[in-house]
Amino acid sequence: MITHFELGDEHREQRTAVREFCEEHVDPHVEAHESSGTFPREIVEAVGEAGLHGVPFPAEYGGADEDYRSFAITVEELARSWKLLAGTVSGACCLVGYPLNEFGSEWQREEWLGELATGRSIAALSLTEPEAGSDAGSLRTTAERDGDEWVIDGHKVWTTNGAVADLILVVARTNEYDDYRGLSLIGVPNPLERDGVEVVRDIPCMEGEAAVESEIRYDDVRVPVENLVGEEGKGFRYIMEGLDIGRIGTAAQGVGVAQAAFEASRAFADEREQFGRPIREFQGIGFKLADMATEVEAARLLTLHAAAERDRGQRVTREAAMAKTKATDVAMDAATEAVQIHGSRGYSKDYPVERYMRVAKGMQIYEGTNEVNRIVISNQLYE
Ligand SMILES: Cc1cc2nc3c(=O)[nH]c(=O)nc-3n(C[C@H](O)[C@H](O)[C@H](O)COP(=O)(O)OP(=O)(O)OC[C@H]3O[C@@H](n4cnc5c(N)ncnc54)[C@H](O)[C@@H]3O)c2cc1C
Repeated sequence: MITHFELGDEHREQRTAVREFCEEHVDPHVEAHESSGTFPREIVEAVGEAGLHGVPFPAEYGGADEDYRSFAITVEELARSWKLLAGTVSGACCLVGYPLNEFGSEWQREEWLGELATGRSIAALSLTEPEAGSDAGSLRTTAERDGDEWVIDGHKVWTTNGAVADLILVVARTNEYDDYRGLSLIGVPNPLERDGVEVVRDIPCMEGEAAVESEIRYDDVRVPVENLVGEEGKGFRYIMEGLDIGRIGTAAQGVGVAQAAFEASRAFADEREQFGRPIREFQGIGFKLADMATEVEAARLLTLHAAAERDRGQRVTREAAMAKTKATDVAMDAATEAVQIHGSRGYSKDYPVERYMRVAKGMQIYEGTNEVNRIVISNQLYE
C-alpha cells in the first residue's frame, strides 16, 4: 500500500551536496576512465572522503548515520553522473556493508565495514555461479571447516569489482543441506594476495571497459573461522535482506540514468534543428520528452517510497522489488528513446546516451532479473 512520505531539508541538501560533488570530482573524469578502461579507485576514495560512501551506516563504523532516503538520493545523483560509480557504491553498501552491519561480529564491523564505509576499501559479493544464477540457492561452492579455518572451493562469475576488491564476501555451502539452508557468508579479505584465488578473467560486457565483472576460481582458499559472517547456514537469509536494500539502490541507479537520459534529450531537442526549427517543436519528439519526464518522476516516487518505508523500520521486499523493476525498465525505455531523439548522434560514442542504453540493460538483469522481481512482487500480492 502506498503511504505518505516526506522529504526534509536534509534530503534536499543531500541532493545538492552530491550533485556539487559530482560536478567537481566525477563528471570531468568519466570519459577518460570509460575510454581508457580504468577502474576509478581514486574517485571511490573521494566519495568516501566526502562522506557519501557509507550513507546508512553508523558513524562509529565510518558511516554517515543517515536514512535510506538520503542513501537513495545519493545513489541517484551518482548514477546521473556515472552509473559505474553508483553501482560500485550501492553494491558495496547493500550486498556487503548491510550484512556486515546487521549480522557481522564487532571486529568485522570495525575493520571491514569501517574500511568500506569510508571508501578506503572496495568490497564485492561472490554469489552467482555458471550454473546458479536466478536459482542462487542451488550454488555449489563449498566451505569446509578444517580446524580453525574455512577452506573454500568453487567457481563464481559476475563478481562485480572482484578483480579490484579488498574484501569479497563469498557465499558457500557449509553443511549437508543442498538448498538455501546450507549457505553461509564468509569474508575473504585481500583476495588478490591469497593462495588459491584466481581471477580467471574480467568478463567483457556491455557496460564497457572500465567495468570489472570478474570470473573467479576459489581453490582451497583458507581463511580463519572468525571470517564467517553471522551464523552458519543463515547466509541466504542475510543476502535476501541485503537485496531488499540493494534493490532500492538499483532502483536509484535506474532513476539516475533515466534522469540523465531525459536531461540530455531535452537539451539536444532544443539545440538540434531540422526543417527550420528545433526538433522539440515536433510533437513526435515533444511527446517522447513528456513520457520520459513522467516516467522518471514515477520511478523516483516508487524508489523514495520504498526507502521511506525502510526508514520506518518496515521490511520492504515488495516495495523494493516494485521500485527496482519499474525504475530499471524506465531507465531502459528512457535511454532507448534518448538514442532515438539524438538520431545518428545518439548511436555514436560522441554522446553519452548510447552508454545509458548499455548500462540500463545490466540493471534489468542484476539484483534479481526483472522477471524474478516480478515473481517476488506477485508472491507478495496474496500476503
Ligand atoms: C552487470 C552485472 C553485474 C552483476 N553483479 C553481480 C555481483 O556483484 N555478484 C554476483 O554474485 N552476481 C552478479 N551478477 C549476476 C546476476 O545476479 C545474475 O546474472 C542474475 O541473478 C541472473 O542470473 P543468470 O545471468 O544466470 O540468468 P538465468 O538465471 O540463467 O536467467 C536467464 C533468463 O531466464 C529468466 N528466468 C530464470 N528463472 C526464471 C523464473 N523462475 N521465471 C521466469 N524467468 C526466469 C531470467 O529472468 C533471465 O531472463 C551480475 C550480473 C550483471 C549482468
